[in-house]
Amino acid sequence: MRIRACTLCGLHATRTQAVPGAGPVPSEIMIVGEAPGFNEDVQGVPFVGAAGKLLDTLLGQIGLSRQQVFVANVLKCRPPQNRDPMPHEAEACLPYLRRQFALVRPKAVLILGRHALERMLPGVGGISRVHGQIFMRSGVAFMPCYHPAAALHNGGLLADLQRDFDRVREYLDRLLAVPEPEPEPAAEAEPEPAAVAPPSQPDPEQLPLI
Ligand code: URA
Repeated sequence: MRIRACTLCGLHATRTQAVPGAGPVPSEIMIVGEAPGFNEDVQGVPFVGAAGKLLDTLLGQIGLSRQQVFVANVLKCRPPQNRDPMPHEAEACLPYLRRQFALVRPKAVLILGRHALERMLPGVGGISRVHGQIFMRSGVAFMPCYHPAAALHNGGLLADLQRDFDRVREYLDRLLAVPEPEPEPAAEAEPEPAAVAPPSQPDPEQLPLI
């Protein structure tokens, strides 16, 4: 991808480097944050600062490690002074996230914080209302959680965030408990001609991301 050389918005002028994302491809779990901060901008890797350390702890508490998840941000470049992403910056950057989503093919997506929520599930409500819920879109579970940085600023959110991650673990346990469908046994008699399935209709709740 051309993320490292991207000049689609003004953030390229102030970044040290772009931060495309990190993790296995494909991966069952994708995590999407807001934007690189100071440390990410220096190292070129997402979630390596204080919020990243908390993310690692939360993942560890539900039996996951960074090596098992693909982590990216809505914005691939750091906004100066870590200001909020501007709408035109997010618009310019979204095609990269869409492409990553298509390559990673996750079964579950953790949406960290309100900015990622606004971009990935527009219209579902604010993060304080929908965190911990599961939104199914085209067979993929989208799970909004508070952003770890929010819990670092407001310790009262930490218990909520831990509960959000517990919900993620519960969902993954349910998902993994579903056995793979058995292959059809070979038919002995001459099979009926297969019905032609109607073309699948687009999901009316299609996520703008996909
Ligand atoms: N916060 C984010 O949203 N992303 C990072 O990569 C780091 C901090």
